[in-house]
Amino acid sequence: MDTQQLKSFAVDQGVTLVRVADLDRLRGIETNPPDLLDGFTRAVSMAVALSDAVIETIDGWPTPIYASHYSRVNALLDEAALKVSRAIEEAGFKAMPLPASQVLDTARNMSFLSHKAVAVAAGIGWQGKSLLTVSPQFGPRIRLVTVLTDAPLAPDEPLKNRCGSCTKCTEACPAGAIRNVNTETHYSSRHEALHFERCVHHVREVCAKMEHIGSSICGVCIRVCPWGGKRKKNAA
Ligand code: SF4
Ligand code: SF4
Repeated sequence: MDTQQLKSFAVDQGVTLVRVADLDRLRGIETNPPDLLDGFTRAVSMAVALSDAVIETIDGWPTPIYASHYSRVNALLDEAALKVSRAIEEAGFKAMPLPASQVLDTARNMSFLSHKAVAVAAGIGWQGKSLLTVSPQFGPRIRLVTVLTDAPLAPDEPLKNRCGSCTKCTEACPAGAIRNVNTETHYSSRHEALHFERCVHHVREVCAKMEHIGSSICGVCIRVCPWGGKRKKNAA
C-alpha cells in the first residue's frame, strides 16, 4: 500500500497533519485492553488544527465556543479515521480506528491509548512540558486521532524536543500543575511532567462550574504555547 497516497487521502478527508508511527516505538505503553496493539505494526496518527481565533478566546478557562469547536473537531477526526480505516481495509489490510475522545477510565482519565504518545512516535510533534504534543506548524493547537494497522506503511521519524528554556505553560497554568521538566523523547510517566492530580482537579472544577464544557483540558496551556498561532501553509 502506498504511504503517500494514503496520507493524501487522509488530507482529503479534512485532516491537517498525518504521519505514520512504527509501533515498535510504542510497545509497553499502557493500552485498554492491554493487548490492543497485538497484530498491528503501524499507527496512522492524524491531527486537525484548531482555530486560532477560537483558542484566543480562552482566558483562564474554556469558553463556550472552544467547547463547541473541540467537539466538532473530534467529530471530524472520527470521520476521517473511519474513512482512512476503510481505505486500508479495501487494500486488504487490517485497520482499527480509535475514537478521538472516549474516556474508558474516568478516575485516571484514560482512553484506549494515548493519541499524544502515538503522535510523538509518528513525528507529528514533540512532547511538550505541558504533556501536549507540540507540532512545529501549529504548536499544541491540534486534536489527534489514531488508526492502528498491519499495512506495511513507511514510518516517519520522531521530532527533537524544541521546548528549550521556555516556561510559558508552567507560568500560565492556573493549577500550578506543570513541573517545568524537559524531556528529550518521552516522559517515563505523566507524573514526571505534571502534578497530574492538580490539573484533573482544576479541569473538573471548571467543568462543574460551566455546563457547556465537554473538554478534558482547560485550554490555557494550549493558548499560551509560543509554537501556536504561527500557521504555515501546506502543513501536511
Ligand atoms: S489543562 Fe489547564 S490545569 Fe491542566 S496543565 Fe494545562 S493549563 Fe494546567
Ligand atoms: S509553552 Fe513552552 S515549555 Fe510549554 S509546551 Fe510550549 S514550548 Fe514547551
